[in-house]
Amino acid sequence: MIAKSKYIQDRKKLLGRLPTINIDVPDFIYIATDNARCPKSDVYVKEGDHVNCCELIGMRHGAFFDQPIHSTVSGTFLGFEEHYHRSGKKVKFIKIQNDHLDTLDPSVKTRTKEEVEALTKEDFTQIIKDCASVGLGGSSFPTYIKFQTKEKIDTIIINGIECEPYVTADHRLMLEEPENVIEGLELIMKAFSAKRGLICVKNKYNDIKQVYKELLRRYPNSNIELCPVGNFYPQGWEIAMIKGATGINVKSGELPAKYGIMNFNVSTVAGIRQAILFNKPVIERLIAVTGDGINYPSNFKVRVGTPIKYLIEKCGGYKNPDIPKVFILGGPMMGASLPTDDTIATKTVTSVIVLNKPNEEKEEPCIRCGSCVYSCPVGLEPVQIMNAVKAMDKDRVKKLNPLKCIECGLCTYSCTSSIKVTDFVRRAKIIAKLP
Ligand code: SF4
Ligand code: SF4
Repeated sequence: MIAKSKYIQDRKKLLGRLPTINIDVPDFIYIATDNARCPKSDVYVKEGDHVNCCELIGMRHGAFFDQPIHSTVSGTFLGFEEHYHRSGKKVKFIKIQNDHLDTLDPSVKTRTKEEVEALTKEDFTQIIKDCASVGLGGSSFPTYIKFQTKEKIDTIIINGIECEPYVTADHRLMLEEPENVIEGLELIMKAFSAKRGLICVKNKYNDIKQVYKELLRRYPNSNIELCPVGNFYPQGWEIAMIKGATGINVKSGELPAKYGIMNFNVSTVAGIRQAILFNKPVIERLIAVTGDGINYPSNFKVRVGTPIKYLIEKCGGYKNPDIPKVFILGGPMMGASLPTDDTIATKTVTSVIVLNKPNEEKEEPCIRCGSCVYSCPVGLEPVQIMNAVKAMDKDRVKKLNPLKCIECGLCTYSCTSSIKVTDFVRRAKIIAKLP
């Protein structure tokens, strides 16, 4: 286990040093009509219609919000195709034939300095909503909702910690677009009239620390500070990050806004900047494609809607193609595992990990070692939750508070008996919501 962890860390370190490659946009782009947060949608275009890049072509409907769908290329709408979504389900995707002209929709326009200066918090909220900004660290939570808080916000924190193994997209963004990160943070601070901005990174990321220390000297009055935090997992979990950065202990069930804090993932911040300055939705993002199942792990700048198969080809294809593969979209601890490469790079895919499928480790009976309890960052008792689920004891499941679980995966990772404990806790979360 230790040797494997060392291998993964070395791999992450190596990939974190590789510059991002801008790859050609493929001939066909696929945009999901639905996603895990929005099970319904309306599509505004019909087969054969020409669409512009960034044009509004539909609307997803969630339980309490709508989310605009934008085309990420210019071209022709060909109809629908089903592919796997990051959520693990097959969903309908809008298929667009790329004309490779990138004709921008007239809605994309640069705001002058004066126009940006005059924007109110309500204007920010509306622009971000119209540009469909969501948590690009993988949460896909609609960003505009954070802007609607009635709490007084003093501190904006940027989460550049990216603590999961293998994942390097935010690391490269922080190194390659530092001005965009700082500018995005300044804009958010302006929207909230916040007094200070913190840029959180792991303490061991010396390359990032060096860049930001140097660059922030050019922003002497910005009240923005670099804030190195711990090197452990899950330091990127917002509660752990806020504690590490400010010492404030946000209790379970509370929102950071209660303490005057608002936090955003670093890629989300770059997306907010683009929305405010150019009225442009996120149409491309950095994605790390890695794992022992491909030939050349790489960091790519990818057009949203690109097939994952295309990215794997750009990595020199599969290593040991005879060995079955597992595909993980997102990090290995919290990402979604798929049995196929028939899936698409949506806005919230931070990485694609292709692993040679290991021989399944045999699950042994629980030996009550307590390792899962010891490793749980939110203080749950995963083994007890598992037992309550197995016993179908709904009341006991509810008492054990599984809804506090952040699905970090540590209980499975640490289980001495190779039991997929996290799967039981996920089931317990569903049970706990039953009336
Ligand atoms: S996945 Fe397991 S370790 Fe992580 S928060 Fe949930 S119960 Fe705790
Ligand atoms: S880590 Fe695994 S074996 Fe140990 S108590 Fe938890 S479930 Fe049981």
